[in-house]
Amino acid sequence: MPDNEITASEWEVMRVIWSLGAVNSRDLIDILQQKRDWQDSTIKTLIGRLVKKGYLTATKEGRRFSYTATVAEVDAMDHATQGLFDHLCEMKKGQTLANLVETTTLSQTDIEQLQTVLATKLKTAPVKVACNCLPANCDCE
Ligand SMILES: [Zn+2]
Repeated sequence: MPDNEITASEWEVMRVIWSLGAVNSRDLIDILQQKRDWQDSTIKTLIGRLVKKGYLTATKEGRRFSYTATVAEVDAMDHATQGLFDHLCEMKKGQTLANLVETTTLSQTDIEQLQTVLATKLKTAPVKVACNCLPANCDCE
């Protein structure tokens, strides 16, 4: 997984590429412009950044470049959410997850999978999770 985080706009570019597999710059611009009011140059800049950050590889195909993702969508999503959760107080993660589950549309399969994960975790879960904030800015306890 590349070290650099990607921005909201860069995620949108990646989602098109994850859906289509390999895309040339012209098609990518056309698809993104159906949804977004972005100039060609803006999209080219986003593509360039994603190549530089290591999320895309460019292959010359005739006059154009074709772009493919270097990381799987599921891995990028896991990495991004894990990175976000790493910033949170250990003690507050459970509540944050509960809120997220409550406001997310989930399929019956998703819910069954969550129930299985939770039932397994319950067997070895601590009674309480300790706060790991810096004491000076914490009102957790
Ligand atoms: Zn805390």
